[in-house]
Amino acid sequence: MSKPVIGIPAERRLLGDSYRNSVNQGEVAAVIKAGGVPVLMPTREPDLAESYSAVIDGLLLPGGADVAPRFYDEEPLPKLSMTDAYLDETEIALTQLAVAQHKPILGICRGTQVLNVALGGNLYQDIETQFDRQSLQHFQNAPMDQGTHYAEVAEDSILRQIFGGESRVLVNSHHHQSIKHLAPQLKLTAAASDDVVEAVESKDGELIVGVQWHPETMFEVNQQQFAIFENFIARVKRANV
Ligand code: MN
Repeated sequence: MSKPVIGIPAERRLLGDSYRNSVNQGEVAAVIKAGGVPVLMPTREPDLAESYSAVIDGLLLPGGADVAPRFYDEEPLPKLSMTDAYLDETEIALTQLAVAQHKPILGICRGTQVLNVALGGNLYQDIETQFDRQSLQHFQNAPMDQGTHYAEVAEDSILRQIFGGESRVLVNSHHHQSIKHLAPQLKLTAAASDDVVEAVESKDGELIVGVQWHPETMFEVNQQQFAIFENFIARVKRANV
């Protein structure tokens, strides 16, 4: 196939005195380097998700705001950060459409949480206050091209292949929420030493990979992290032959 088209939902962000439909440069650059064509999708009109889904070959769900807890049947707790229900609705619709149409997905940070919610799972609204034990520092005070905590990678996983068979990988961390109960069609493929969920995949072993860290801020200096994007583009090509 020609270069696969990768849809990336764009958050509405206030920059200066105007709202912009915004995607981080890291995701755009990583998709291009891996051989994909990034297409940015505004997220103010959830009803357009079907139209957007029709023109993309794969879906990259990026990092961003918290997911509004009403999408997993909870009320907001005090430590919940900024949420945007239009963004949530759009990304949940895009995820469900991509799964129904067998279009591969890569979830990053918030994106991994969105796909878990879209498929019937739920989240910790705030790890530190909701965890029943001492957690690690998951909102790191270090440059984002550096890993800070380890992720233990499951043996039978795409992620283990991506990492060349390594079982313990240093990842960066910039999140205060995480997956609580996994959606039925997902399996756990990496966890931190405090048991925080760090990666998931679809049980079919092909359609979905989601990581809780940010490979898009590491891929330029870390080949292992770039391999996540190479694997994504390869899965998209396999799904569209
Ligand atoms: Mn983490």
